[in-house]
Amino acid sequence: MKFEDFGLADPIMKALAAKRYENPTPIQQQSIRPLLEGHDLCGIAQTGTGKTAAFALPSLDYLVRNPKARLPVTCRILVLSPTRELAAQIGDSFRDYGRFLNIRVATVFGGVPIHRQIKQVQSGVDVLVATPGRLLDLIDQRAFHLNGVEIFVLDEADQMMDMGFIAPLKRIVKMLPKQRQNLFFSATMPREIADLGAQFLHDPVKVSVTPQATTAERVRQLATFVNQMEKQALLTHVLRDQDIDRALIFTRTKHGADRVVRFLEGAGIAAVAIHGNKSQAQRTAALQAFRQGQVRLLVATDIAARGIDVSGVSHVINFELPNVPEQYVHRIGRTARAGAEGIAISFVADDERAYLKAIERTTKTRCEIVRLPDGFAEMVRNLPKPAQRKRPERPNPRNGEGRPANRSRRRNTENEGQAARRPRRRKSVGAHKNAVKKFNS
Ligand code: AMP
Repeated sequence: MKFEDFGLADPIMKALAAKRYENPTPIQQQSIRPLLEGHDLCGIAQTGTGKTAAFALPSLDYLVRNPKARLPVTCRILVLSPTRELAAQIGDSFRDYGRFLNIRVATVFGGVPIHRQIKQVQSGVDVLVATPGRLLDLIDQRAFHLNGVEIFVLDEADQMMDMGFIAPLKRIVKMLPKQRQNLFFSATMPREIADLGAQFLHDPVKVSVTPQATTAERVRQLATFVNQMEKQALLTHVLRDQDIDRALIFTRTKHGADRVVRFLEGAGIAAVAIHGNKSQAQRTAALQAFRQGQVRLLVATDIAARGIDVSGVSHVINFELPNVPEQYVHRIGRTARAGAEGIAISFVADDERAYLKAIERTTKTRCEIVRLPDGFAEMVRNLPKPAQRKRPERPNPRNGEGRPANRSRRRNTENEGQAARRPRRRKSVGAHKNAVKKFNS
């Protein structure tokens, strides 16, 4: 099957040629035609499968074939994403695929000042990509409404649920016009996600690519039993011993991620961390350095890493195992992209053995057990001290970034879900209100 077979509008075909896409990926082959016909869609697909184009191309085609004047403070296509990084990536994809069209795409997410975003959407946009929390902020401030939505895309639904976005999501869905096309994507489809989809999908076409087990089968999975306190020494050893092009190291918590980076720095190994306590600017810089190969180790929490598309990851290291088996599948799916072989190494402490069992049951694969290296006790004794904690940056009230990590009032949840909403600083509330007032007057 070729892109030509879909009959997509010429400017879209031109953009695909510019991107040098030759053939549609399996999820695109299955989704584009039913979406062009106006069906609702329920898709099981992970990032890296080409799912963004699977929903972006037919949505853009719809805009071309149904031209309409932009209405203020609303959009025609609404895409909800659980994380800022994924939202930014989706926004970029829409801009890319729509570069020969006269369309306006806006991306809104928390962690950056709202007034700029209010301005961005003031005169209306064709496509809005948003995280649910920030979208509700805009709506509550009367800076946006959803009456104009014709296509609604919910991406990474399982992650939305994990992050406590269900209540905001339900509020948003209630505000959508009845007549619309719905697209629902999730990397996994456990019962509660399927039930969530059923609440707003009408007779959807069901598509599915890369069943979970296939990813797991392509990755060489190793596990080492090690005390929690000695994992840092093992990590330092593994990073020196293995031939690593680019590795993603997963921790369960944000503080854990920072600690790993400081220990690595202490041992003279460069790494960057990405998680919800970092400012947006820091997260973007860390990702860029990793993507461009300036730094080959990225330490991340699950949610921060979700949806990030970086090619050439040779190793995924589970410094801590996730307690949800599906999360493990997401993690190791970061390597072995596009048919490449990857290696996943898990450090399993005593209290994580049950997690490993559950993972093996879910993936229907067994990890190869690797013994601790010879002389490991010596390595633990000689482990260099962690680098000093960096002084927290002073918050910059002008751009809302550089928030001091140790004074953050956020709970230990990532991103801007309802549960993790931070009380706003007075100054910005005033600024926002003024902006809204000015806009409404
Ligand atoms: P996604 O799963 O949407 O994050 O896409 C993963 C990667 O595949 C992105 O870098 C896309 O640019 C790329 N991609 C998507 N569709 C195609 C295609 N048909 N041919 C080649 N690359 C593609």
